[in-house]
Amino acid sequence: MSETFALIYSSRFGEYSYGDFHPFKVDRYRLTYELMEQSGLVDLPQVKVVECPFVSEDMLLDFHRLDYLDTLKKFSMDDEPHANFFYGLGDVENPVFKGLYDWSRLMCGGTIEAVRQVTEHGCRAAFSMAGGWHHAHAARASGFSYLNDLVVAIKQLLKQGKRVVYVDIDAHHGDGVQEAFYSTDQVLTISIHENGKDFYPYSGFVDEVGSGDGYGYSVNIPLVSHSDDLIFEQAFQRVILPLIEGFAPDVLVTQMGADPLRTDPLTRLECTTAFMEYAGRQFLATDIPWVAIGGGGYDRLNVARTWTLLWATMIGEYVDDEFTSSLQATIAEIDEECFWLRDLPHMAAPDDFARAQQALDKNLSFIERCIFPLFNLSV
Ligand SMILES: [Zn+2]
Repeated sequence: MSETFALIYSSRFGEYSYGDFHPFKVDRYRLTYELMEQSGLVDLPQVKVVECPFVSEDMLLDFHRLDYLDTLKKFSMDDEPHANFFYGLGDVENPVFKGLYDWSRLMCGGTIEAVRQVTEHGCRAAFSMAGGWHHAHAARASGFSYLNDLVVAIKQLLKQGKRVVYVDIDAHHGDGVQEAFYSTDQVLTISIHENGKDFYPYSGFVDEVGSGDGYGYSVNIPLVSHSDDLIFEQAFQRVILPLIEGFAPDVLVTQMGADPLRTDPLTRLECTTAFMEYAGRQFLATDIPWVAIGGGGYDRLNVARTWTLLWATMIGEYVDDEFTSSLQATIAEIDEECFWLRDLPHMAAPDDFARAQQALDKNLSFIERCIFPLFNLSV
């Protein structure tokens, strides 16, 4: 039987706004979808486009607190200024805007739908670009994230008795997801990110390994600034892929943030689009049912290009590097200019690379020594 791949999308994504001066731009989704479509990656026999639904409040309550949801709902009803710093709402990072609750429920619904497509509808893999809000806590917004779609979706999988590996390749630590599953051995969380010493969310150190039953089931690979594609690939080969195999999950859930790119305005890593194609190939090659979810990325074209390449990799299609004139026109409409899908190859400067390699070796050795034995893995 031929394999089917689900792409979760909705034109409603563009109906909301974090505000003109916020780094998160909702039109990244439309741009990504158009780039996929115009690259010939949507209208294909193996592709199923699924309208993104709203998540139900019942599902949200499996993780989020009712008082927090009630406040989100109340603040969403009008354009009046609202703030509650106890809940992390209404500051410059997590602005309150009309429709915020519906926006967050829609983002979350896409992740639930992607899981459903893989676990109930027989899709080989699914991609919901709208999710990836890995910083949201049970009763607190953080890092542009209001509802943690990843935690809510993984909780649904746990209810079905499934064991899950969660891999987070966003430039920021997946703190909200780690925290939610820190003491269970049913979910293995792996996050590779820029070092939290002086970088949001200031967590994700290598010695955060889980507690109680979850000891060894939280894995963190903090990278120093200027880490590049080669550093990412080594982390995959030495630690991430062996751990996925060692845990042997029923479902693989991955957060595919596009902000490790060297041209992202908020981060200091030096990856190129090749890192996303590499990650996509590796996840697909595990042969585990795969739910891929979006994430960060604060340059709209980076996001669109990176996720288009991810999608092409996922569905096994070759995609041309040169943009057509109609694509260039779409990009010009938003006052941007770009002619190529892939980044040129890039390597960090020799001194930066040496520092990144040294830090990586130290962290991977720690993981190999402390966590590998729990999964019967040897170095
Ligand atoms: Zn991020």
